[in-house]
Amino acid sequence: MSDCDILVIGAGVAGIAAARAAIAAGRSVRVLEARDRIGGRALTDTSLGLPFDLGATWLHDAEHNPLTDLARGLGIALADSDALRNEITFVGDRRITKAEDAAYDAAWGAFETTIRDRAAQPGPDIAAAEAAPQGGPWDATVAAWQGRVIAAWPLEAISLRDFAATLLSGANLLPEGGLGALVARLGEGLPVTLAAPVERLRWGGTEAVAEGAFGSLRARAVICTLPTTVLAAGALRLDPALPEIAQAAEDLPLGAAIKIALAAKGADRLGLPDHCSTDRQVGPGEDLIPITFWPQGRPLASAWIGGPLAVEAAREGPQAAESLLRAEIAARLGTRAPDAFRPGALVSGWVTDPWTRGAYSHARIGAAGARAVLAAPLAGGRLCFAGEACHPSLAGTVAGAWLSGGRAAEHAIAATA
Ligand SMILES: Cc1cc2nc3c(=O)[nH]c(=O)nc-3n(C[C@H](O)[C@H](O)[C@H](O)COP(=O)(O)OP(=O)(O)OC[C@H]3O[C@@H](n4cnc5c(N)ncnc54)[C@H](O)[C@@H]3O)c2cc1C
Repeated sequence: MSDCDILVIGAGVAGIAAARAAIAAGRSVRVLEARDRIGGRALTDTSLGLPFDLGATWLHDAEHNPLTDLARGLGIALADSDALRNEITFVGDRRITKAEDAAYDAAWGAFETTIRDRAAQPGPDIAAAEAAPQGGPWDATVAAWQGRVIAAWPLEAISLRDFAATLLSGANLLPEGGLGALVARLGEGLPVTLAAPVERLRWGGTEAVAEGAFGSLRARAVICTLPTTVLAAGALRLDPALPEIAQAAEDLPLGAAIKIALAAKGADRLGLPDHCSTDRQVGPGEDLIPITFWPQGRPLASAWIGGPLAVEAAREGPQAAESLLRAEIAARLGTRAPDAFRPGALVSGWVTDPWTRGAYSHARIGAAGARAVLAAPLAGGRLCFAGEACHPSLAGTVAGAWLSGGRAAEHAIAATA
């Protein structure tokens, strides 16, 4: 006798979406989650006395994002981040001129057009960096944003085809109370067993058996939502082994990103308006640390360290990330500016977290097809992989994770009819 129709491994966004869909279809469901909380890479911290998302923050491509309507259905207000944003770019310690700003805008436009055009051409896949415009005064800054910051890894190591397929567009909305809190609400009441990492999955028979320190659990179908780096590290032993899944997971590594918040010490707002998004001009290969001061009017600075610098900082510990941020604030606003913040920073830990081991996925050069391999149902739908890495265009987002979980559930529901 099976313990349930459908077992979901992992209670992140994909797992929550899959479990909700399977329950709605009348299946008995169990969810096994390694951590002592649900939500995975969506987590809102409140230790500063206000919500701060340590992971997923924006509802990207909000018009096509299933969580937009779900948030509205729960009565959660959504702020338009782009409308709120006051942008300031620095060249050294001075503010950008109007002419430079126009050239910077043009470089953003040229980047997207060139990437899309080049990706549409036939021929072998290349690194996204090879297709990106180069040599202009703002090209390196746009490349740093698009690679190390937004994709969380340098464009030199990312597949052009996959990068173009997953370029985001549309509105970016901020749920009141945090995106992590929204995800936690969407997972409320699900049959989740926490602190139950699955170590082995025997899936070859008519029913699958998940095993770990929690014991064992039998199910007619399984949806596995582990991050690709966790899968690639062999943290879940698949029996029989699935070399094509292991390869797809290897080919879709997670980049690295650290989110940091510094809380204001007093009333000094450094002469900056609310929701003030700052960056600075960088040279080729140089790191860029975007800092938003007073996001949504809150008394803090929120920054992002992405790519190999995030790996390095994560290894060194939270003080290293805080030092980087304070140095960046000083470089933009003067050596006394960091004094406007209390000592100690809130620093995310995704890079070293054993249940994530990174930020979100990109495809290695030549491996754009790996997402479809990972997303393809196996054993007639009795074993499905899901998660952000499985979505062809919204990979790396909660929207992609949610839709991928729902799709995997459709296969598992059909397989357990
Ligand atoms: C710093 C950062 C910022 C981001 N910003 C945004 C953003 O603004 N907007 C956006 O849309 N997306 C953003 N993302 C990406 C977004 O968070 C992810 O795409 C999404 O949350 C992934 O959901 P998932 O269900 O695929 O994976 P996860 O959330 O990783 O869920 C997988 C679950 O599996 C569990 N697990 C792992 N191993 C085991 C095991 N052996 N047994 C059982 N359970 C296990 C994990 O604990 C986890 O809960 C960001 C991510 C990071 C890290």
